[in-house]
Amino acid sequence: MNRFPVRKVAVLGAGVMGAQIAAHLVNVNVPVVLFDLPAREGPKNAIVTKAVEGLKKLKPAPLGVPEEAALIEQANYEEHLDKLAGCDLIIEAIAERMDWKLDLYKRIAPAIAPHAIVASNTSGLSITKLSQVLPEEIRHRFCGIHFFNPPRYMSLVELIPTPATNPEIIDQLEAFVTTALGKSVVRAKDTPNFVANRVGIAGMLATMKEAEAFGLTCDVVDDLTGKKLGRASSGTFRTADVVGIDTMAHVIKTLQDNLADDPFFASYATPAVVKQLIERGALGQKSGAGFYKKVGKDILRLDAASGDYVPGGKKADEIVARMLKKPAAERLKLLRESSNPQAQFLWAILRDSFHYAAVHLIDIADSARDIDFAMRWGFGSSQGPFELWQEAGWKQVAEWITADIDAGKALSSAPLPGWVFDGPVAEKGGVHTPEGSWSAAQSKFIAGSTLPVYQRQCFPESVVGSGAVAPLKAGTELFKNDEVRVWTLDGEVVIASITAKLHLIGPSVTEGLVKAVEIAEASYKGLVIWSPDDVFSAGANLEVLMPVFMKSGGKGIAPEEKKLQDAMLRIRYAQVPVVAAVRGMALGGGCELAVYSAKRVAAMESYLGLVEVGVGLIPGGGGLTYIARRAAEMAAAGNAGADIFAFLKDGFTNAAMAKVGTSAIESRKLGFLLDGDVIVPHKDELLYVAMSEARSMFEAGYRPPLKKTFPVAGRSAKATIQGQLANMRDGGFISAHDDHISSLIADVLTGGDVDAGSQVTEEYLMAIERKHFCALLDHPKTQERIMGMLQTGKPVRN
Ligand code: NAD
Repeated sequence: MNRFPVRKVAVLGAGVMGAQIAAHLVNVNVPVVLFDLPAREGPKNAIVTKAVEGLKKLKPAPLGVPEEAALIEQANYEEHLDKLAGCDLIIEAIAERMDWKLDLYKRIAPAIAPHAIVASNTSGLSITKLSQVLPEEIRHRFCGIHFFNPPRYMSLVELIPTPATNPEIIDQLEAFVTTALGKSVVRAKDTPNFVANRVGIAGMLATMKEAEAFGLTCDVVDDLTGKKLGRASSGTFRTADVVGIDTMAHVIKTLQDNLADDPFFASYATPAVVKQLIERGALGQKSGAGFYKKVGKDILRLDAASGDYVPGGKKADEIVARMLKKPAAERLKLLRESSNPQAQFLWAILRDSFHYAAVHLIDIADSARDIDFAMRWGFGSSQGPFELWQEAGWKQVAEWITADIDAGKALSSAPLPGWVFDGPVAEKGGVHTPEGSWSAAQSKFIAGSTLPVYQRQCFPESVVGSGAVAPLKAGTELFKNDEVRVWTLDGEVVIASITAKLHLIGPSVTEGLVKAVEIAEASYKGLVIWSPDDVFSAGANLEVLMPVFMKSGGKGIAPEEKKLQDAMLRIRYAQVPVVAAVRGMALGGGCELAVYSAKRVAAMESYLGLVEVGVGLIPGGGGLTYIARRAAEMAAAGNAGADIFAFLKDGFTNAAMAKVGTSAIESRKLGFLLDGDVIVPHKDELLYVAMSEARSMFEAGYRPPLKKTFPVAGRSAKATIQGQLANMRDGGFISAHDDHISSLIADVLTGGDVDAGSQVTEEYLMAIERKHFCALLDHPKTQERIMGMLQTGKPVRN
């Protein structure tokens, strides 16, 4: 096996991108040294230091936990070039200027290790031109590595080889970027702005142009072109603010400088409003103003005509929002035929995007799949342009586009390419088929990458029309009820997938999970709890318990609660390893399900927490029992004979304040993931890793833990906590009901009215959990919180 070990990465440039890329490397345990220019005054690392400090405050958070900013090693080109020799990968992310980049390359070249890969994060400069200044031996190991902002959250990374790049290093980099960094790779050709920015920025320019033509303001355009259109929630103008108006202008300039022959050249002109903003230094989020400006709590929008910031927040017309909910074919027809300017605007920008993608496919991408993935992963769209076109009806939409081109409504008079109407694409009704996606350059459908790294993705993302089997229809089904599917993919490990809304845990889910344990114990090596979407479980299903509660009150719920707790214990003491494959929210009962599993394999973007307090309850599915047991285990570790209470305090605070980890890393800090658990950077590798873990635990002779008693902190610890709670209540920091709930949490965690060090069983603590949980259900203030949450989805503070 030819491995490319990445022991350390150097990131050159501590700007918006460089600093955040460095942060993400820390998130995934890759040592990183971050360089910038030496400061003219004061400490030479001052520029980098400021950038690293900035990472702690940036939103959305680039780091899994802010303190880990300290793990980024700081350097400058004057004092520390020798550090480059220890780096296997060098990512250049300095300002988007060819001359500056070339100067820097000349300067660093002698310091680079002979085996290192060197890559530029340029948004669109020619990689080949950039490479030419490098000595021959480095040129073979040079390519583009284009991350998207914000790099922790945007999954796309474009890799761009030059004709001189050794193909092997691109394969190595693709494997590293996918598995280690968790990003999704599109290989791009070395054409201006590559794939995503070429199509995406042309789309933004088209949107700005059509918005002006239809007289729409930026807030309305963002509402129309955000979630409602299946695109990133920041829409168009706010995306420009996030990216940086100057960066966007650089990308536009690359189009202008390099694409004089492009049939869409006229639409690459820099919009007047963009020029105006740059002149004023309003570069978007990083300078506090752009198309939007935050003043106090208000977000003002730019009024392009006057240049003033005025109140914003205007939304799309309701009738247009309704059209956007229709199936693709009907949606496009309605938008096209409507006389509403917002609808016409939407049809115009969609038509422009189809037209643009079709005309440019031959030059910019290996296949239509790459354009669609680039728009999904780099711009946060739920579908790429070809997918939507194909779904809406290939031929019909092609005719509409042609009619608009002929009528002079399109951005370019260039006709749609011949392959749209004749040959395999027309015959198959689109560019995506089970055989592969259309390559205009090769005039055939081509399949996806066969690099070994993709064998780690049991269900890689697929495009409309590819015929990929949906996970919940795949494998061999072993059991199914209306909220759980129990199945196997490899005949060795059982998979339980919760299918209920938000994967809420109600009686059917509990029944399904217990069934899954039984099936796994009878004939398989292990059980993985995994679902194909991005929520593990948002908690217990309170709604489904409502009829029982109405009839018999809190005590009527006790048997249901016991069943849930028993299911948790069944999972913990199963004869086969149960691995929770967590991704997204694992809250309340979802968090309990994770912590009662033998092991957790969590995607980087996992958010675990016991949030029951928000609905006026306490964790009642064994969550508090878990915290008490863990405190006892931690106190017993080593020879210090440590005080359980010292370990209990954090667990108490986490439950009483409903703390949720904002990443897998923070969830681990809160104690909901353990050091031996696995954090998986790429979401699509989660199932593979979880199944591997289950198999290897079995092969290692897995036995469930022995049932043991453990000591609790007892009544004195409870009194201490309650004393502090009383102070907080009297000081007005928490409400009387918060005090009450927190006291009950303390009661469970400390074991109730017993001496410190008393030995208890899990069942004993669970019985106290259950008692308090059910009593709280009868409390009017808890009922107020539950009703509020069910009705508005927001916590009620009472
Ligand atoms: P930025 O302006 O935030 O930061 C640029 C950094 O380069 C600064 O830290 C600056 O000190 C340094 N720098 C400036 N002149 C230099 C020189 N002559 N030599 C060495 N260093 C110098 O820029 P950014 O947005 O982080 O962009 C960096 C690169 O990443 C650019 O190539 C850009 O096109 C690309 N990119 C940006 C985004 C984005 O959304 N901002 C997304 C993808 C790629």
